[in-house]
Amino acid sequence: MRLTIQIVGAVLLVSTSYVSVERIAEAKNETAAGGSVFRLDEKRARELAAFGSLRSWLVSVGESGLSDRLERLRENGEVWVAPRLGPERWAVFVDTLSLVRRIYVRRAALLDPRTHLYPTPHPDVPESYQKAFASVSLAGALRHEVAHRDGITTEGGAYEVEIAWYEGLRQSAPIQSMTENDRRVWEWALESAILSARKASATAAAG
Ligand SMILES: [Zn+2]
Repeated sequence: MRLTIQIVGAVLLVSTSYVSVERIAEAKNETAAGGSVFRLDEKRARELAAFGSLRSWLVSVGESGLSDRLERLRENGEVWVAPRLGPERWAVFVDTLSLVRRIYVRRAALLDPRTHLYPTPHPDVPESYQKAFASVSLAGALRHEVAHRDGITTEGGAYEVEIAWYEGLRQSAPIQSMTENDRRVWEWALESAILSARKASATAAAG
């Protein structure tokens, strides 16, 4: 009997300390994303609608695989929104002690990708080009963070996955079957996203 009580006590002690370690990990994880973060769920209608638009767009360009993957991660509580994440980032994956692993997307970037990408007006770039570049970049950034989530720890490795994703999109049937004008917009957007990713990868390697 005494042994049983001791064992129960030990189990309680272990689970209590596990819970507090997890809470600390959670707090550290949230701080790394700028704080004031929230889980992307039904309570956040506006952000969820923006996420839904991104997923619909992915389906329309033949990327339902990534769309479904993002939704599964979201349902699993792995996609969060970070209102205070800096303007230099679309999203970030934060892993704390392998206990708390989340993809945070910058709130402003999710709600208005074009303004995130072009914080000041750029009348030299037509609006349709800006919008296409912004959609591609937001999706590509999430593809990058999913690569980290799946175990790629280096920036170079994650950018390789991101760039390969853009290349694949360029060959996708929906983009190939667009009218010449539309296709020109998307070719430009994908080429710009690839150049940005290459530049960011080189900067990360130098830093
Ligand atoms: Zn990265």
